[in-house]
Amino acid sequence: MKNKKRVYLFGDGKAEGDAKMKELLGGKGANLCEMNLIGVPVPPGFIITTEVCTEYNTLGKEKVRELLETEVKKAIAYVEKSMGKKFNDLKNPLLVSVRSGSRVSMPGMMDTVLNLGLNDQTVDALAKKAGNERFAWDSYRRFIQMYGDVVLGMKPKSKEEHDPFEVILDEMKEARKVKNDTELTVDDLKELVKKFKAIVKKVLKKDFPTDPWEQLYGAVYAVFESWMNDRAVYYRQMHGYPEEWGTAVNVQAMVFGNMGNTSATGVCFSRDAATGENIFNGEYLVNAQGEDVVAGIRTPLEITLEGSKRWAKLQGVDEKTRKKEFPSLEEVMPELYKTLYDTQLKLEKHYKDMQDMEFTIEDNKLWMLQTRNGKRTGASQVRIAMEMLKEKMIDEKTALNRVEPKKLDELLHPIFTPEALKAAKAITKGLPASPGAATGQIVFFADEAEKFSADKKQVILVRIETSPEDLRGMNVSQGILTARGGMTSHAAVVARGMGKCCVSGAGNINIDYKARTMTVGTKVYKQGDFISLNGSTGEVYEGQLATKTPELSGDFAALMKLCDKYTKMNVRTNTDTPHDSAIARKFGAQGIGLCRTEHMFFEGDRIKAMREMILATDEEGRRKALAKILPYQRKDFEGILEAMQGLPVTIRLLDPPLHEFVPNEKENQAEMAKEMNIPLKTIKFRVDSLHEMNPMLGHRGCRLGITYPEITEMQTRAIIEAALNLKKKKIKALPEIMIPLIGTTAEFVNQEKIIRETAEKVFKEKKDTIEYLVGTMIEIPRACLVADQIAAKAEFFSFGTNDLTQMTFGYSRDDAGKFLQIYVDNKILAADPFQTLDQEGVGQLVEMATNKGRSARKTLKVGICGEHGGDPDSVVFCHNVGLNYVSCSTFRVPIARLAAAQAAVK
Ligand code: PEP
Ligand code: MG
Repeated sequence: MKNKKRVYLFGDGKAEGDAKMKELLGGKGANLCEMNLIGVPVPPGFIITTEVCTEYNTLGKEKVRELLETEVKKAIAYVEKSMGKKFNDLKNPLLVSVRSGSRVSMPGMMDTVLNLGLNDQTVDALAKKAGNERFAWDSYRRFIQMYGDVVLGMKPKSKEEHDPFEVILDEMKEARKVKNDTELTVDDLKELVKKFKAIVKKVLKKDFPTDPWEQLYGAVYAVFESWMNDRAVYYRQMHGYPEEWGTAVNVQAMVFGNMGNTSATGVCFSRDAATGENIFNGEYLVNAQGEDVVAGIRTPLEITLEGSKRWAKLQGVDEKTRKKEFPSLEEVMPELYKTLYDTQLKLEKHYKDMQDMEFTIEDNKLWMLQTRNGKRTGASQVRIAMEMLKEKMIDEKTALNRVEPKKLDELLHPIFTPEALKAAKAITKGLPASPGAATGQIVFFADEAEKFSADKKQVILVRIETSPEDLRGMNVSQGILTARGGMTSHAAVVARGMGKCCVSGAGNINIDYKARTMTVGTKVYKQGDFISLNGSTGEVYEGQLATKTPELSGDFAALMKLCDKYTKMNVRTNTDTPHDSAIARKFGAQGIGLCRTEHMFFEGDRIKAMREMILATDEEGRRKALAKILPYQRKDFEGILEAMQGLPVTIRLLDPPLHEFVPNEKENQAEMAKEMNIPLKTIKFRVDSLHEMNPMLGHRGCRLGITYPEITEMQTRAIIEAALNLKKKKIKALPEIMIPLIGTTAEFVNQEKIIRETAEKVFKEKKDTIEYLVGTMIEIPRACLVADQIAAKAEFFSFGTNDLTQMTFGYSRDDAGKFLQIYVDNKILAADPFQTLDQEGVGQLVEMATNKGRSARKTLKVGICGEHGGDPDSVVFCHNVGLNYVSCSTFRVPIARLAAAQAAVK
């Protein structure tokens, strides 16, 4: 254990690691190494590996320090030599940054400490060396604040608390009657440092550490500890990242963007993270440190001239003012801009992906601090992948894998209707931080957003600026509106990652957290009031605006075409109306995998006839009522079969328990009695008799068709007649009649007989025939066990994984919500099994039944039509076990197509 290498060095064009070592060095560290290797200027430093994080959690502080001591000493010496500076030196002190970095980027999750190595002595040395006393003391006060917050744990714990350092800073600014930190004098900063140290002593009952080595180890421990903080744990849970990964620690020589007007700092992207446009973009601030750009305290400026002009147009700023007050880096430092531009091109070419970079200019020298594959919106993922494919930067399979299936959802999300927009008046405008449209009730705190959302209310989270503490609230919100912050602010970056609509930096809104109000001009909006956001333009509207589905871009169509080239599995859809079927066709559905016929029973007169059937006391009465439903069903089936243009359409016979079709409340029963001219008592009696303790396990599925064969007869007749009618019109129809909830072969045989006999009867009557299949849902564990027997009779299987999950786990589909989240939080379950297929258990049944079924009938068509059919992970599983198709809700069809194609190219 002692001899293991725990520290990796990089600097001066050399590195002990490279980009492939993300697991050990974390994403940031691996890329810092790689950038050195390809000749990008990076300040020297070293990485403490992710394995040490795990050692820290098991062995503790002292032991880890012992294990690290020799290597860290050597590493600091290496950095000292490279920079020509020395740790704790009184002439030319070396300062370092300490950052976290796990193998995947977790924005804002982990803590960072800058300017480490400063104390009352080195601050003077730094001032002398830089010839800039103000800069040195500003760095020092920032260091104490950051170190105090992050390492010493003085960051406010609740939303009502204030950061003690911010309070002191604000008091100082107020006393000096200045607005910006930059207006404070050197003496002010010196006094701030004194006050900062005093508050540390007061709160923690010990002095602020002055020894840089103590400072360094304190920061390293804090990074390791932040791996286990609530935000990081929550983020990991949200994305399914395991705890064992750990985080690396990156220690790197400091370079300064706040050394005066020849220094700057910024964040940039090689393409547009929101739209995918191939345009270099980003933001910068002169005389500032990196945190100023992302923290949203000062609003940063655009790097490129083009970006700056676009920004000015959006903000209504004229060209003269823009040039004078908001100039781009391209105008302010043209040569450095050119170097930065070339560097980003080099990095994108090297990594063959859009890069998200951080840089600092220290006294006219450019340093790259970080590069990583940039997070981006769904639209941007699609556009960048397809454009890079066209540019021959990547191949087809890589392009397919560049788009996260779930992200396609964003492209399919609604936008405001033109009419709604015409009628609406924007109350203010911010930055278009993350595209899409959102409408909801105003809330000001993340936990309140969660409460509103739990009550099924849609909310817009309105904040002065967001921080990682707001993550949960952002996750449940429809959209996010902030008063401060640029396009790279926390709110903007996180919202884009989540695919949430976000408007940031809407400077005209005044937020009063205490009163829970937002004021725009003279108008006051309270918590609970409705507003709407357009994340693509930055506009904010009063009230609820109507939305519509967006048109899909050419890149999207090209991506879908690419999916079809590689995919092995078909994707069908679950729909029950001609209208939805037509939409699903547009999304590329290759058939209907589940048409839930009962959904057709609720409209208009149909429900009356249905209730008549339920109330009938004998077969004759039921047949009379069913005869009334028949024409409706036939018409619906005709519409759906026609919309699907000869593609297979699986129509399931009646499934839900009959009580779902009758009213339970007294008033509604009275209304029904009046309408049907039947005594209330009779209705009440029948409704009571339909009551079951466990209706989901009761009189439903094929059990209905077996007790009331006339229902199966009527539905079969409707399906066959519909197909025959279409045939007359020369429209091809391919119905597949599906029997629900089979547990035994005999159940199937019973229903199949009725179906086949009815079909024959209709053929005879109409003197014509059509092709059709008879198959079954597999949604009861017993059916999986005897799948070979069933397949000897059934022509297809469709896994109803909703019921199969319910019955395999013994979790009620309706009641499991009460404990499932607790199960997931406590890691008893990795995920909600009703959302993503439990591959280990339920999946085993699916695989076994598929194999058993095919052993009895080689050509057995097998699909899945539970909710899992639209969940990317479950789709991959279905591909792996060799299903013929997955079927999912309309808007998830493209997601399933992409997931299926990705599974095929893996
Ligand atoms: C299922 O059980 O997975 C299924 C698709 O049927 P339903 O959800 O209608 O019970
Ligand atoms: Mg079911």
